[in-house]
Amino acid sequence: MTLDELQKKCENCRKCELCESRTNLVFGMGNKNADIMLIGEAPGQNEDLQGKPFVGRSGQLLDKFLESVGLSRDDIYIANMLKCRPPENRDPKPNEQELCIDWLREQFKIIRPKIIVCVGRISAQKLIDKNFRVTKEHGIFFEKKGVLFMGTYHPAAILRNPNNKPYALEDWQKVRAKIDELNLNA
Ligand code: URA
Repeated sequence: MTLDELQKKCENCRKCELCESRTNLVFGMGNKNADIMLIGEAPGQNEDLQGKPFVGRSGQLLDKFLESVGLSRDDIYIANMLKCRPPENRDPKPNEQELCIDWLREQFKIIRPKIIVCVGRISAQKLIDKNFRVTKEHGIFFEKKGVLFMGTYHPAAILRNPNNKPYALEDWQKVRAKIDELNLNA
């Protein structure tokens, strides 16, 4: 199956109740052959309205982090743990994550990224370790089945607490260093 075919299937998803309130499903966007994938939490209001990931204030800050290490959205692929917006931007519920993760697994199988950057606690706890602590473990690469995973601060958390911005910037520099070390496409 191609990514476009998967997206068509996903757009009809009614596995959980979030399908009732979505304006648009946010499947993901970017380079379909990317070596680097970013996984956020869930669409917010702007993303739900536009059907694209990270297009609000968090997305603007994310773009700055990417730019700071010479990356653009065309180099990478961006998706979220949940494809539909939780009401009032509440945290994704465990059952919503369980039901939605199969879509992400299929995205991984097709794109076959070499590095997966978990943006924020929700994706890091689901994809790296259920006890992952962003404050303690950000910027560390963990290898699983030949793929490198790294957790970093969510830009929304940096907007709330700008003191952590230098740490987030350092994490992105580590991603850049790993791209260069492994000679990846980005
Ligand atoms: N926050 C996320 O985690 N993902 C988005 O797409 C937007 C905001």
